[in-house]
Amino acid sequence: MPAEKLHWKHLFAEVVTSGLCTGCAGCVIACPHDVLGYDDGGGHYKPFHLEEEDGPGGCGHGDRGCTLCTRACPRFRNWEDEADSLLFGRLRELDELAGVAKDIVLARAADPEILDKGQDGGLVSAILLWALGHGYIDAALVSYLEGDGTSWKAVPGVARTREEILAAAGSRYTYSANPVAYPQAIAGGAEKIALVGMGCQSSMPAILSARKAGKVARRFALNIGLMCSKTFDDAIFEELFEAKYGLRKQDMVKMNIKGVFQIWMRNGDYHEINLKECHHWTREGCEHCPDFAAEHADISTGGIGAFNDWTLTVVRTDLGREIIDGMVGDGVIQVRPGDDDPGAIALMRKLARVSRRRWPETAVEGPRRMPPPAPKVATEA
Ligand SMILES: Cc1cc2nc3c(=O)[nH]c(=O)nc-3n(C[C@H](O)[C@H](O)[C@H](O)COP(=O)(O)OP(=O)(O)OC[C@H]3O[C@@H](n4cnc5c(N)ncnc54)[C@H](O)[C@@H]3O)c2cc1C
Ligand code: SF4
Ligand code: SF4
Repeated sequence: MPAEKLHWKHLFAEVVTSGLCTGCAGCVIACPHDVLGYDDGGGHYKPFHLEEEDGPGGCGHGDRGCTLCTRACPRFRNWEDEADSLLFGRLRELDELAGVAKDIVLARAADPEILDKGQDGGLVSAILLWALGHGYIDAALVSYLEGDGTSWKAVPGVARTREEILAAAGSRYTYSANPVAYPQAIAGGAEKIALVGMGCQSSMPAILSARKAGKVARRFALNIGLMCSKTFDDAIFEELFEAKYGLRKQDMVKMNIKGVFQIWMRNGDYHEINLKECHHWTREGCEHCPDFAAEHADISTGGIGAFNDWTLTVVRTDLGREIIDGMVGDGVIQVRPGDDDPGAIALMRKLARVSRRRWPETAVEGPRRMPPPAPKVATEA
């Protein structure tokens, strides 16, 4: 019997409407018939079929043999094992809660302007800049703020210059499906594209390659991951920050999450909001996400740890190592051993475990595979 052709009908039933869909937009950019749209209004962040004749879960192109959307989806069926096998030639060991790693270091940009504009150590922006300058990439898919920034609406976009990379630096904690900017990069002539994104997005290039969707996969030349526990609905600005604390988004200049939601205001005021209060605004697409540490990126980056202004950096692939080594050699980043901050690595593993527990038991078991937690050390009463 010929193998079943897996298309939108299967993706719609198994991912889009099952709670597994993160809204990464991988299916949208892979569709060769341009029949998938992307709804980022009203907190949705979901793909939908543009043609109405077959209903929301039907696709005439799929019925005739097109399978590209399922071959792009980093939440379809056995995605984690497929991406691990492609990138690392093996499945992750049970103990590799935060994914397969070559090195874990702390890194930061040597250039004071990049360090200042970056969320943590400015490493991501420094990598993009160096990779552009050394011909590894000719464009990057990043996230900007809409308009003059006062709406705090994160929007995907393309960066091709130092100015654009720096304009996109820093973190927003609402969703930005950076792959959405892929067609814009292609239209601008990009051949070697860096994807910056959280784990839900950074597994996509490996999945495309593993499932032999080469036409889209081949343009992804570099993959930089952002560690991530969740993103929040855009409504959190009005419904919590403004309604309860009187903090208007147009007066905010920076935010970060370090155990609490930190907000810096234009007038110099600083506020901390308990994360438990924010949970109510967790974006739906994050609720079942098992990947804290962006486990299929070339280099994954995070802000946890004892040292502000350093980026916790997990180097996963040969390309990732080549780039970090090249940057150290050129003196554009400073690097110190991850062992300088063992608490950061322990916290990364803990947060990775928390995320893995969210993956539903009704889906494939791979992402939930973990060793039992270490027994608590008994302390005297
Ligand atoms: C939504 C989100 C949640 C995160 N959660 C955690 C966490 O729980 N723990 C942790 O340790 N680290 C987390 N991070 C990662 C951390 O905030 C930093 O992005 C990371 O440490 C890199 O810092 P940097 O100074 O090297 O990067 P920078 O040089 O500041 O570059 C950051 C890059 O991220 C892109 N970006 C910003 N916001 C978004 C967005 N919403 N969606 C997609 N791309 C975006 C920018 O365009 C820029 O290219 C999160 C990041 C995001 C975006
Ligand atoms: S997870 Fe991404 S690729 Fe999969 S259905 Fe959702 S938007 Fe499409
Ligand atoms: S928790 Fe982060 S990585 Fe997971 S779906 Fe949400 S935004 Fe993506």
